[in-house]
Amino acid sequence: MSKYLKKSDKNTNTSALISVNFSERVLEWFYQYGRKDLPWQKNITPYRVWISEIMLQQTQVATVIPYFERFMKRFPTLKALAQAPVDDVLSHWSGLGYYARARNLHKCAITVFTEHKGKFPHTVDQLAELPGIGRSTAGAIASISMGLNAPILDGNVKRVLARHFAIGGWPGKTEVLNQLWQVAEAHTPADNCNHYTQAMMDLGATLCTRTKPNCQACPLVETCVAFKENRQLEFPGKKPKTQKPTKYTAMLMFINQNGEVYLQQRPSHGIWGGLWSFPEVLQSDDQTVFEQAITENNSDKNNSKNNANNNGNDLSAAIHKHCSTLNAHIKSQQLWPSFIHTFSHYHLHIQPVLITLANNPAHIAEQSGQWLTLNNQTNPESGLGLAAPVTKLLKQLGDGNNNGNEHLGTLNLFDEPV
Ligand code: SF4
Repeated sequence: MSKYLKKSDKNTNTSALISVNFSERVLEWFYQYGRKDLPWQKNITPYRVWISEIMLQQTQVATVIPYFERFMKRFPTLKALAQAPVDDVLSHWSGLGYYARARNLHKCAITVFTEHKGKFPHTVDQLAELPGIGRSTAGAIASISMGLNAPILDGNVKRVLARHFAIGGWPGKTEVLNQLWQVAEAHTPADNCNHYTQAMMDLGATLCTRTKPNCQACPLVETCVAFKENRQLEFPGKKPKTQKPTKYTAMLMFINQNGEVYLQQRPSHGIWGGLWSFPEVLQSDDQTVFEQAITENNSDKNNSKNNANNNGNDLSAAIHKHCSTLNAHIKSQQLWPSFIHTFSHYHLHIQPVLITLANNPAHIAEQSGQWLTLNNQTNPESGLGLAAPVTKLLKQLGDGNNNGNEHLGTLNLFDEPV
């Protein structure tokens, strides 16, 4: 028996939230107005639905379409994905963000290939046990590609249900989420569940939008409590505010005489796990400490030299250390304008430092990094997964400028033999 609630398990609170003809109205609207030509709505298979569902988490349809098509071209089957190097998968994910999704996608493909003979299991419970597949994604795969009667509750559907039934509170709270699941389950029809799932996702994405719901065109308007009370924007409840912390890092952009850049692969866990990035130094949670490490060096050559020798904790020391590891000689250095990259749980303040070399350091086998031709790096065909800020900086390097901005200063960190 499923660990999730069945209709017969509904408690009395939930039964009070039943809306008559709910699914019929949604389906009728979908057959007339719903989107039916999205790439993943053609040649429907569990594999294609799964990929689209994972891509659509946190990302809008228009952004996902080209990624989905490119991904399907490179990995047309589950077997192709399971047998591909994870780097290749990450490379085709570059720019979509939330890279744990791509790593889990790869893990899941291997699991299905090796433990389920290459076929997705046919129950929501088993699907939800696979890496990176939660209950809602399992429901979408089961209903859309297998015709099973399974509810879903993605962000769009949460919004529609929370508004229609005036379910208050932040859906991140267990009791609110449970109530939404109960309502979702109670209204999922036994027949045409595949269309109903698509319809609910569509309704949330196109009519019941976050800031400007088009209630006049909505098939649920007559019974929608939020509409009746003119409280649409109150639902779903907001996450309680907590201030995101800011972290600091400097990215060292080494460029050699051939115009090649040096990138390193990041560890598989943590942010941008497994992606390729510039060497990072001076990571800190403290703005003052970070800024001192940057500015003291830039303004006082001799002092910076001493700092480097004394504590090894400043920009000068960090660059010096990398140069000796790479056998690189500096020709010139520039601080580029810093910028902020925001993650779900913190802001990352990035200070890029361009270091132009006077030589072409030889590749050293033990090093985790490689020298790469600049023009190929923003293209996934290069086979490297890149974090969004790295792609942005590579593009600026490729354009031969720093986005039209003057650099903030030339560093005089220490004398290098040229
Ligand atoms: S009537 Fe408006 S608020 Fe209610 S479900 Fe439809 S679009 Fe959303």
